[in-house]
Order: sequence, then C-alpha cells, then structure tokens
Amino acid sequence: MKKETKIIEDITITLERKNIKNMYLRILPPYGEVKVSAPLFLSDEDITNFVKSKKDWILKKQKYIIENDIKAPLKYSNGEKHYLWGKEYTLQLISNDTIKNVLIDDEKSVMYLPIPKRSTIEKREKIMNEFYRAEMKKAIPPVLDKCSQIVGKKPSEVKIRNMKNWGNCRYHDKRITLNLKLAKKDPICLEYVMIHELCHLIEFNHGKKFKKLMDTYCPNWKKIKKMLNE
Ligand SMILES: [Zn+2]
Repeated sequence: MKKETKIIEDITITLERKNIKNMYLRILPPYGEVKVSAPLFLSDEDITNFVKSKKDWILKKQKYIIENDIKAPLKYSNGEKHYLWGKEYTLQLISNDTIKNVLIDDEKSVMYLPIPKRSTIEKREKIMNEFYRAEMKKAIPPVLDKCSQIVGKKPSEVKIRNMKNWGNCRYHDKRITLNLKLAKKDPICLEYVMIHELCHLIEFNHGKKFKKLMDTYCPNWKKIKKMLNE
C-alpha cells in the first residue's frame, strides 16, 4: 500500500493505492480531510479528473462537517482522549487476564482499557459503556437524594441507558432514565439533568412554567446546559 499527498485544484487529498477494483473518495471529520483510494493500475490523470469532477461535492461536504462541528467517531485506540466526570484521560489498551474493568490512574491521567489491540471497536465500546454505567450507578444515589429534596419530588425509579438524549422522564409512571455518558461530563451536569427530569414530575413540557421551576431549583441551569452540550 502506497500513501501520498496531492493537491488537485486547491484540494489536498491523501491518495492510497490499493489492490481494489474501484476508486473511492471519502471526506473525514473533524477537519474534512479528503481520502482517495484508487486501484493500482489507474493513471494519475484519471485520479485527477475524478477528483475534479467531484470538486463541488467535496467542498459542500467539507463545509457541512466544519459548520456542524462533526466529530470523528471514537476508535478507542491508544492515545485517544476520553473523559470521566469532566476530567480528561489518555486511553491505553492493556492485554491482561486478571483485569476485567477499566482502570483509572488519576496521577498520570491515564485510562486503562483491558482489551487486546486487535479487538473490534464494538467490543471496546461495550467495555467502556459498562464502565460508565458502573460510575453512574455509584454517583446517582446521593445526587438523587439531594435533588429530590430540592425539587420536592421523587421518581419511581432511575434507569441508566446509552441513549440519544441526556435524560428522559415518563410522566405516567414517574420513571427517570439517564444517559450513561453523563459520567463523561462534569458532575454538576448530572445534577442539572436530574433536576430537569424531576421538574418534569411537576410540569410535563418545556414552557414558561418549566423554565421558572429550573430558575428556582437550579439557578445556573443555562450555563450548565451549555457546558453539557459542548
Ligand atoms: Zn425535558
């Protein structure tokens, strides 16, 4: 496999020649890097013409990635940055039969992921999510106590899930569900989401009345919300 960088009509591309039949072009987050995979037999001219023909599409896609701040998907590889309760750690994969869970070295800011280097991303993600779930399980009880006292409402139960939203509250059975990724954020974010969901036990929608409740029970909520979604 040969890798080279080329500039075609002001577009910088990374060209990879491989033993493949067709040419592929990909635009990668977070910076809109252009990657072209081409068959070994294809001429430089064919590749240049191909990229030229796709120029409008490339620029459009790059603009979209930058403007929408699209992130590169996590690979859970060595050196990648990961977070726990708002603190940044460098991920390090370890092959170990005795260690089953993620380990944290606070002094070195290292997060150890016990899985072989050749493991799939799905498997790595699963171990990490189990770790975040366990962290949430430990953190929730005191936060729930504190926030229930502030709001004056109690849920029937609190569930932890890997989901799209940060939290959810089912009005009819008073069940609160929290996103396990809250364990990546500053602890104040968990408190904020808990208060938000508890307020839904008083007010179902996000109208004026709801915002007034949030202003009362969590005066800094707008600031925290911004931090949470960064
Ligand atoms: Zn809500």
